[in-house]
Amino acid sequence: MTDTHPAIRVSEIFGPTIQGEGVLIGLPTVFVRTGGCDYRCSWCDSLHAVDRQFRDEWQMMSSDAVWQNVVALSGGRPLMVSLSGGNPAIQPFGALIKRGHDESYRFALETQGSVVREWFAELDVLVLSPKPPSSEMRTDWATIEACFQAAQDKPQVVLKLVVFDEDDYTFAKEAAARFPRLPVYLQPGNHTPPHPGNEDAPVDVDGIMKRMEWLVDSVTRDRWFEARVLPQLHVMLWGNKRGV
Ligand code: SF4
Repeated sequence: MTDTHPAIRVSEIFGPTIQGEGVLIGLPTVFVRTGGCDYRCSWCDSLHAVDRQFRDEWQMMSSDAVWQNVVALSGGRPLMVSLSGGNPAIQPFGALIKRGHDESYRFALETQGSVVREWFAELDVLVLSPKPPSSEMRTDWATIEACFQAAQDKPQVVLKLVVFDEDDYTFAKEAAARFPRLPVYLQPGNHTPPHPGNEDAPVDVDGIMKRMEWLVDSVTRDRWFEARVLPQLHVMLWGNKRGV
């Protein structure tokens, strides 16, 4: 049978490994990382899936082809599939999600919330991750609200905020105040993100842990008891390495 659905631009498909951050931390997961992003954050840790100089590494794949990769990696055993990027919201994922659900797989997507899709309502988990001032990007709260509305209360929706400094922390509080019903996950930023050509470059784990401690102190000082503070587990385990 021919797959008539639009193709998906893929940077890499890998796993199973564990989800390293946020609400699904520790959960065995296959990752579908898409190529291309409408943002260019100053500290992006996935430039190989963002910068167009790497587009030769990206492939246009049918939903069927992506699905076959997921099945092969998971040995046909249902698990969580994480749609990441880049900005995965740019890609046409509706057919893949439907196909996977028919086989009892689950789907999570993380996006900065700059592109709204009807198929957000078909996800199991939607992670909205507005980018703070240190990213040098501007947040359009109306579009993030539209993403939230598109989900129609069907998937679990959470907020994830990367925090580097006081301004980012203030931004995170503003985001939480705008979406008081959503669980909030705070994550200390990695100021030593990988250069795409050198994934073995060292990570300043001590520096990230100091930021983590400061974040814990800030949250407890402010009695912000709804927030959860988590590190990026994969960075602790494997540094900047790709495909883990
Ligand atoms: S939104 Fe995410 S993938 Fe896109 S540039 Fe920012 S950090 Fe990188």
